[in-house]
Amino acid sequence: MAVIVQKYGGTSVANPDRIKAVAKRAVEVRKAGYDTVVVVSAMGDTTDRLKKLAFQITDSPSEREMDVLTSTGEQVSVALLAMAIHSLGYEAISFTGAQVGIVTDSAHTRAKIVKIEPVRIKSELSLGRIAIVAGFQGITHDAQITTLGRGASDLTAIALGAAFKAEVVEIYTDVDGVYTADPRVVRDARKLPVITYDEMLEMASLGAQVMHGRAVEYAKRFDVPVHVRSSFSRGTGTLIREEAKSMEKVVVRGVTANKNQAKVTLHGVPDRPGIAARIFKRIAGEDINIDMIVQSVGDGGKSDISFTVVGDDLKRALAVVEKVSTEIGAEGVNSDDKVAKVSVVGLGMRSHSGIAARMFAALAEESINIGMISTSEIKISCVVESKLADKAVRALHSRFGLGKQMRARRKRKEKK
Ligand code: ADP
Ligand code: ASP
Ligand code: MG
Repeated sequence: MAVIVQKYGGTSVANPDRIKAVAKRAVEVRKAGYDTVVVVSAMGDTTDRLKKLAFQITDSPSEREMDVLTSTGEQVSVALLAMAIHSLGYEAISFTGAQVGIVTDSAHTRAKIVKIEPVRIKSELSLGRIAIVAGFQGITHDAQITTLGRGASDLTAIALGAAFKAEVVEIYTDVDGVYTADPRVVRDARKLPVITYDEMLEMASLGAQVMHGRAVEYAKRFDVPVHVRSSFSRGTGTLIREEAKSMEKVVVRGVTANKNQAKVTLHGVPDRPGIAARIFKRIAGEDINIDMIVQSVGDGGKSDISFTVVGDDLKRALAVVEKVSTEIGAEGVNSDDKVAKVSVVGLGMRSHSGIAARMFAALAEESINIGMISTSEIKISCVVESKLADKAVRALHSRFGLGKQMRARRKRKEKK
C-alpha cells in the first residue's frame, strides 16, 4: 500500500483542540487507503521552555542531558495524538525515535542520522494502524538519546518518507506554503506553487525557517516529493521537487535573512603560509561550522581574518580562537553577535549577470552597510547589522520584483 508521511510543527499541535484537528486529518488519509505515518513536534514553544529551564540550573548544561530533556517534548505530543486518534475510533500507536530505529551519530544536540530500521513501523502499518513518531530525535549505537538540531522534526519526516518511499511527505505548518520571503516580514510576499530542491535548500540554510535545511538535502538525495502546506486550511501549498521545464523562469526566487549569526575577527595575524590552516583546523576540530571568511590584505606582515558562525556557536568558537590567537602570536580577538546575513536565491542566477550589482544598489539606497559578501552559483549573501535585516529583506524583495503587486503589474505589461 502507498505510504503518506505527514509532519505537524509545534504550532499545529500547540493545544488539545489542535491535536484533535490533526488527528482528524491523519484519519482522513488512513480512510483514503494510505499507510499513514505522522511525525510531530513538541507542543508550541515547549522546546524553548525546556531549554530555558536547563539554563536556570546551569550556564553550561551537558549536551547529553540537554538531549534527554528536550526529547521529552515530542514524547508528550505523540502520546496525546495517539489518544486523540483512538477517540475517533481508529487504531494508532506512538513511538519515540529510539523505538523506531532512528540511529544517529553521537553529536548530541546536532546528531546526524546514520541509519533507519523502521521494522516496527512497518509491522504496525500492516495491521492498519497509524504510526505516530516523535520528531527530532534518535538513538546512538550505544543507546544514548540524541536530538537532530532545532527544527529537525522535518528531517525525521523526510527520512521516514525516504525509508518508506512515500508518495509524498506533507509538512504541515502555520503558513500555507513557501513564500518569496518570510510573510511575517514582507507583507507583499507571494506563495510559490513550486520550488526546486536546490533553491529550497539554499533558502532554508540561509534563514527561511519554514523548512529545515538538512531535511531538504535528504529529500533531494532520495528524491522524496515534499508538500509544504497549512494545518489550518485546506488549499494546496508549495511543492518541492526537481527542476522542471514547466517552472516559471525567474532569476531570483526568494529573499532570506538569518539573524542567528555572529562575526569573529582575529587581529594582527602573522601573514605567512599555514596560519589560516592552523586556525580553521582547530575550529573544525570542535565541530563548529564556519560560513563566510574574509582576510584583509597583508600589511607589515600582519593581516586580519574575520569569519561568521551560527550565533549559538559563538561562545565555543571564541574559546578556541582565543587559544589559537595566543599560540600564533596574533594581536587579539573580538566578536560581534549583532549581525545578520541577507541573501537572494534563484536557479536563474546561474545564467544571469548583474544580480550582485542590483543587490548592492538596493542596500545602498537604504543606507545599509555591507560587512561581508559571499556568492555561490545560485545565491548572493551579505552580512549587515541585524537591526537592519528586515529592512534589507523588504528592499531586496521589492528590487527584484518578487511581490504580488509587482508580478501583477509585470503580467499586465506582458499582455499589452
Ligand atoms: P513549524 O513549527 O511548523 O515547524 P516553523 O516556525 O519552523 O514552523 O516555520 C514556519 C515559519 O517560517 C512561518 O511562520 C514563517 O514566519 C517562517 N518563514 C520564514 N521564511 C519563510 C518563507 N520564505 N516562506 C514561508 N515561511 C517562512
Ligand atoms: N521541537 C524541536 C524544536 O523546536 C523540533 C521541531 O520542532 O522540529 O526545535
Ligand atoms: Mg520548523
